[in-house]
Amino acid sequence: MSAQGGSALGGKKLIEEQFDVVVIGAGPAGMMAAVRAAQKGARVALVDKKEEPGKKLLMAGNGRCNITQDENNIVELSKLYKNGRFLLSAFGAFRPGSAREFFENNGVPTKVEKNGRVFPVSDKGEDVLKALMNVLKENNITFLYKSHVVDFVVEESKITKIKLKKRELFPKNVIFTTGGKSYPATGSMGDGYEWAKNLGHKIIETVPALVPIKIKEDWAGELQGVSAGSVSIAVYQNGKKKFSDSGDLMFAHYGLSGPLALNMSRGVGKLMSQSENEIKLTLDLKPYLSLEQLDDIVRVDFERNADKKLANCLTDVFSPKLLDFMLRYSGLDLEKHAAKISRKERFHLVNLFKHLEMSFDGLFGFEKAMVTSGGISTKEIDSRTMRSKIVDNLYFAGEIIDVDGPTGGYNLQLCWSTGFLAGESAAKNL
Ligand SMILES: Cc1cc2nc3c(=O)[nH]c(=O)nc-3n(C[C@H](O)[C@H](O)[C@H](O)COP(=O)(O)OP(=O)(O)OC[C@H]3O[C@@H](n4cnc5c(N)ncnc54)[C@H](O)[C@@H]3O)c2cc1C
Repeated sequence: MSAQGGSALGGKKLIEEQFDVVVIGAGPAGMMAAVRAAQKGARVALVDKKEEPGKKLLMAGNGRCNITQDENNIVELSKLYKNGRFLLSAFGAFRPGSAREFFENNGVPTKVEKNGRVFPVSDKGEDVLKALMNVLKENNITFLYKSHVVDFVVEESKITKIKLKKRELFPKNVIFTTGGKSYPATGSMGDGYEWAKNLGHKIIETVPALVPIKIKEDWAGELQGVSAGSVSIAVYQNGKKKFSDSGDLMFAHYGLSGPLALNMSRGVGKLMSQSENEIKLTLDLKPYLSLEQLDDIVRVDFERNADKKLANCLTDVFSPKLLDFMLRYSGLDLEKHAAKISRKERFHLVNLFKHLEMSFDGLFGFEKAMVTSGGISTKEIDSRTMRSKIVDNLYFAGEIIDVDGPTGGYNLQLCWSTGFLAGESAAKNL
């Protein structure tokens, strides 16, 4: 760190420093931007208001960090994101495969799990953060933690000064990577939106995305912690089916979580904002079987276990906790032997397995949202460089931009890609 002198402000001596690139926000996007800018020869400072970087990164994937997706066709990849076309250049510059290679080369072997989700072999998100920190240190990046931005000075369409509480930074280029508004305790509170707005950028309305779904039924509590893989949910409003999706579901005391519920939250949220009419959800526990096929399986199971009580049947078809709940919920006599169960009763049960009805009771807010949808309008950022079209030496990367994807490593990938491209572009703009 080379101090360029000092000035007095409010009686206190200020440290003044010059940097080629100042990155504000040490999350995944900011760390990658800082690494790439430094690799390209820039003198880089990484600023964060928290006492340490990557707080949200450590929470990712329940601490296991779903780094990226195993998908290298960037056109297909981009289709899964809001404003995905905007991301094509960034994905071209740094693909999911590049992200895996980056971490593998820096001591984090990776593995691919169900649905193409890529994790560190160690299952430890802290290994991902450690690898990034090592590369940052190797590249002599100046860390400025617990540093609050107080103000920016803009001259001739360029940020010429960043005022922190105890320092003044004179940047040639600035990258905003302050993230969104979700899980505010991690430091992401939407500060960057305000700065960008004051600098003339349009902010697309920010809403919580990838949030759990609340349901009215009290029985959700009985299923808390139970997961149901490869199920599907259909969403109805005014009795009309609006959309459906399938995937892995997790029950929680308030309702539904897991990838399926999180990914569906955007669509349900949209319906909720369009009309106040009640939204119903129906869960199909065996979506790849027709009603008749599932009935056949249940019938054969009952025949094979004719002497057993209903409570002890169907153990090969459903997991124990889910089965126990479904049988009780059906209202059938659990003491009855399978041979005595009527066709009508069996059909009632099968119908429940295919159509478990739930009443939507709202979505969680930013406190439980995995990402923020909305943010800096992509129309005002050059997608080839991540440079602002309004402020000449300002770049954006990560969740702060109006782009977001489904669960499964997609959101971190957009951070790696846009961070890489913003860092590289800023380093070239010297
Ligand atoms: C519980 C949870 C689990 C997740 N799991 C996954 C997963 O497994 N895979 C996946 O792809 N995505 C996952 N995500 C999403 C992913 O973590 C985010 O998309 C990603 O962290 C966004 O990165 P970012 O760098 O843009 O911003 P952030 O990670 O939010 O980082 C922003 C940084 O900016 C700093 N900052 C903010 N304001 C200021 C300021 N005024 N001055 C200085 N610094 C500031 C913050 O302190 C923070 O360090 C998960 C999210 C959550 C909440």
